[in-house]
Amino acid sequence: MMKLDDLNDAAAADFVALLDGTYEHSPWIAERAAAARPFKSLAALKVALARVVREAGIDEQLGLIRAHPELAGKAAVAGELTAESTNEQQKAGLTACTPEEFAKLQKLNADYNARFGWPFILAVRGPRGTGFTRAEIIATFERRLRAHPDVERAECLRQIHRIAEIRLNDKFGVRPELGEQLWDWAAALAAHSETEGFLTCTYATPTHTAVAEQLMAWMRDCGFDEVRRDAVGNVVGVYNGTGDISTQQRLLTGSHYDTVRRAGRFDGRLGIFVPMLVVRELHRAGRRLPFGLEVVGFSEEEGQRFPADFLGSSALVGAFQPAWLEGADAAGIMLRDAMQAAGLPGTMESIQSIKRDPSRYLGFVEVHIEQGPVLDSLDLPLGIVTSINGSRRYTGEIVGLASHAGTTPMGQRRDAAAGVAELILFTEQRAAAVPDVVGTVGMLEVPSGSINVIPGRCRFSLDLRATTDEARDALDADVRAKLEEICQRRGLSFTLQPTLAANAAPSDPAWQARWEAAVTELGLPLHRLPSGAGHDAMKLHELLPQAMLFVRGGNGGISHNPLESVTVDDAELAVKTFCLLCQNTADLS
Ligand SMILES: [Zn+2]
Repeated sequence: MMKLDDLNDAAAADFVALLDGTYEHSPWIAERAAAARPFKSLAALKVALARVVREAGIDEQLGLIRAHPELAGKAAVAGELTAESTNEQQKAGLTACTPEEFAKLQKLNADYNARFGWPFILAVRGPRGTGFTRAEIIATFERRLRAHPDVERAECLRQIHRIAEIRLNDKFGVRPELGEQLWDWAAALAAHSETEGFLTCTYATPTHTAVAEQLMAWMRDCGFDEVRRDAVGNVVGVYNGTGDISTQQRLLTGSHYDTVRRAGRFDGRLGIFVPMLVVRELHRAGRRLPFGLEVVGFSEEEGQRFPADFLGSSALVGAFQPAWLEGADAAGIMLRDAMQAAGLPGTMESIQSIKRDPSRYLGFVEVHIEQGPVLDSLDLPLGIVTSINGSRRYTGEIVGLASHAGTTPMGQRRDAAAGVAELILFTEQRAAAVPDVVGTVGMLEVPSGSINVIPGRCRFSLDLRATTDEARDALDADVRAKLEEICQRRGLSFTLQPTLAANAAPSDPAWQARWEAAVTELGLPLHRLPSGAGHDAMKLHELLPQAMLFVRGGNGGISHNPLESVTVDDAELAVKTFCLLCQNTADLS
């Protein structure tokens, strides 16, 4: 088995020879990465190799892509593949296709090549490392055939890095066993769903209760000292520290186990599994920290079933509103009744009793899948969250005059949709002009519009977010001023209703620094980024210092979608980072 020292100590030519076969027929990648030695970890080596490719020219990147064989292609049949490719294609069962599958793959190969001009690249061993089925391979092939060429080229390169990662693991004889356990938990938990064929787990349903029970069983297996479901259905596991447990402080962590409809497996749940594995490792080693570790699987964050969200974390900070109990779902079932049907008390007294006393806690940390494309596009497994964005949302309507599309001259129109169109373009430009500020019109509708009628009304939504409240408010003021100006100039009127205002939750500098130190100790470069999405940490922010760690999502970082994915290697790094965070915090106390 290869060792990192062998690579770090080798002459440059030997370094390249040792990595032969990692990137298909492309020794230039190892040649350029040699200068970045010494590597602190295998993960650091992987990042350095990927960086060489990212910084290469498009021609070199295309050369690398074209150095790969087609899947189940002619070369495979003729026995002309490299040893690594033969092994991978065999393991994926691509050498055992039925005649129909083989014909399908040949057609896909031909169509793909005609569209993009390079072979389709897929790490057939997949994010789990044990391989896609042939049906999954064909479905992925069909989906990616429709992608934009720039997007698809980037995806091919990321698949090539994943292939290299698995080949390096084989060379080094390492298996990301913690990551594999996390992945298998995510798969097993996703088997509980309200919908056939997709993952859906909304609050206080039988599925939701089954998920809570499964989490509790696993927590007991991990060696938690206390495991319970609380008054709002949060699953709480405590691993005591050394010393007097009645007075010792705890580190609070966790994320949500409810999901959106047609969800991914890792949103929320990743942040429960990571600290569960930390506890399992501590327990197996017979170790305790000088502080307690309290892991919460929050019961509700996504706001899917009832007209309120963050039910689980709101209860912990004492922000659960009595009126929420009266809210009803689409079937008319009140939250209180749903809670009681799920075996929860459904009373304000019980909910208020679980508010946490901040003096008992060191802080709150949360691990979460990024749910965006940033880390994936930078080839980085982990990112440090600087702030959870503050936001303002509105629904609005511009009113003009619906008149004949043929007879009304351009200068005499009062087109409501054209007014909103101007607002959309302004919002896009204004948000893009400031780093980490985003603005979106996600809903747009001309009520009962016709092809031959100038839009008299146009409804729209506005979603404005920024890392600080100041930046959010400045964007908000500019967009609203522009709306007034547009309507004034075009002879239109408008209404605008605020529907949500959430303050930014900047990370606590000390806890953010602890995440950074842990990531650095793993030999990984630091990348800081804001969270555009809301998270439980945003609620805990009202009570405790908080900081988050992001884990790269695959498939371009897609989330709230069944395509959401993390690799076992990235999951493993997240667990190791959390272990180091605990260790470093222990060393301070
Ligand atoms: Zn989430």
